[in-house]
Amino acid sequence: MWWKNNPLLEFVYVKDPKHPLVAPHEHIVVQDTPAPADCVVSNVALKGAKRVAPEINFLIANSTQSPLELAASLSLIYEAHGLQFDFAPTQQEATQSVLEVFTYNSTICQYHQRRVECCGKCTEVCPTLAITKLDPEIAKSKGLECIDNRHLEINQQDCIDCGRCIAVCPSGSLHYNALSLECMQAIAKLYQGYIPLLLDKNTDLPTIPLKKEVLPLSLNANILEQTYLLTLLQESGAQVVLYAKELGVGTLESITLLNGIYEKIYQKKAVLCAFSPDELKTCLEHAQILEHTRFSPPTTPTHTKRDLFAKRLAHMVGEGGFGQVPCGDFIRYGHIKIFESCTLCLACVGACNTNALSIDGNDYRLLFNPSLCTTCGYCVPTCPEKCLELERDGIHLHPSYFTPQVMAQDNLFACRMCGKAMGTTKSVLKIAKFMEARFQGDTRRIASLYVCADCKVKVMLEDIVDISAILR
Ligand code: SF4
Ligand code: SF4
Ligand code: SF4
Repeated sequence: MWWKNNPLLEFVYVKDPKHPLVAPHEHIVVQDTPAPADCVVSNVALKGAKRVAPEINFLIANSTQSPLELAASLSLIYEAHGLQFDFAPTQQEATQSVLEVFTYNSTICQYHQRRVECCGKCTEVCPTLAITKLDPEIAKSKGLECIDNRHLEINQQDCIDCGRCIAVCPSGSLHYNALSLECMQAIAKLYQGYIPLLLDKNTDLPTIPLKKEVLPLSLNANILEQTYLLTLLQESGAQVVLYAKELGVGTLESITLLNGIYEKIYQKKAVLCAFSPDELKTCLEHAQILEHTRFSPPTTPTHTKRDLFAKRLAHMVGEGGFGQVPCGDFIRYGHIKIFESCTLCLACVGACNTNALSIDGNDYRLLFNPSLCTTCGYCVPTCPEKCLELERDGIHLHPSYFTPQVMAQDNLFACRMCGKAMGTTKSVLKIAKFMEARFQGDTRRIASLYVCADCKVKVMLEDIVDISAILR
């Protein structure tokens, strides 16, 4: 436990006169009054406390657990908040950065620096214009270096920490500092064997009986999207209950997606959503531990949200086939089609910043992994052959959805003089066909199209070269 090596950082429990018999584990310092304390986590707002965990008093007031069970549950909640403190950027990092509520990685953004508008979902949900799209004209007028590319402008000082942008960002460009995906992977492991009850931090906590298996977690519910939620679902091995007065579109669509998937595979809902105390009561009555759904792979720090989701979902699907689950307007899934006319020029691979498209260089194969595709659509206008089509038809619950599929394949074209490889057959023949018309029957120049750069000189300058053999 991290706090044992760090005596300066500790957990504080301020006694509640209404529940005087609560006895937390010994590593939690008990105070009679809310006196200032330099601590990491406290159950009530205290001067000096880095984090407040309101669900501690909520659990104490509503729990049906025995004193020992309750003490164990409280420890887990303190630890969950301790992890959030550990994973958050340090004060030094935070002051160096303009960004505070979230950090933005422009290199994987699907709007920024693109010639065509493919995303901007975050700007559609942001209520305060803290994130805005700058199209090329506006970017130019602001003196930003820009020919025909777009800019995503972030004004963190206007951000009200609503979290809605985090849930709709398909690429993971927006990283929520207070609760990163990596942190959620660590927290979720604490909830193993419990039914996680997610309480939106901006929603008043009701008085409601909690069955023994329920373990609450207070957080910003609007950041929750499919990867956060599936992590919690699989690590706990239970349905998740979510209580909020309202939820952003990204969270709602993610819940619909996950419920569709769970219903197909387990014939159960994944997330039970409540917007009032009465609804919460019903959800808590119905929520179940689903032991067979538990999956706890090692924490992987560097993967993107799509990649993590794909790995977890692939495990659920296994070798089975469970049909298709539709997606929404913000949480989008689908696949691309590539037609015969593909020349393997690889422009689409260069355009794709999710690694959904890749090349198997040894076999000259263009590969596509649907589970990594955000359906941004940027590859479509990038393709010079116009042989690419995008379909936003949701997730296919089949093993092939999670492995790279061969979309196009070609052989190497060998120089017709020396036999050296000079490109893919389709691309060489395409260029040759295009140029032949321009060379107007000049056989020597036409022959030069079918030989490598070294042999081209010989074809053009040496009379002894057998042109007819090259043009066979
Ligand atoms: S957290 Fe909310 S207010 Fe802040 S940038 Fe995101 S959407 Fe806008
Ligand atoms: S939602 Fe994410 S990928 Fe899309 S524009 Fe915003 S930051 Fe970029
Ligand atoms: S394959 Fe195309 S649509 Fe999918 S993420 Fe890559 S560029 Fe976007």
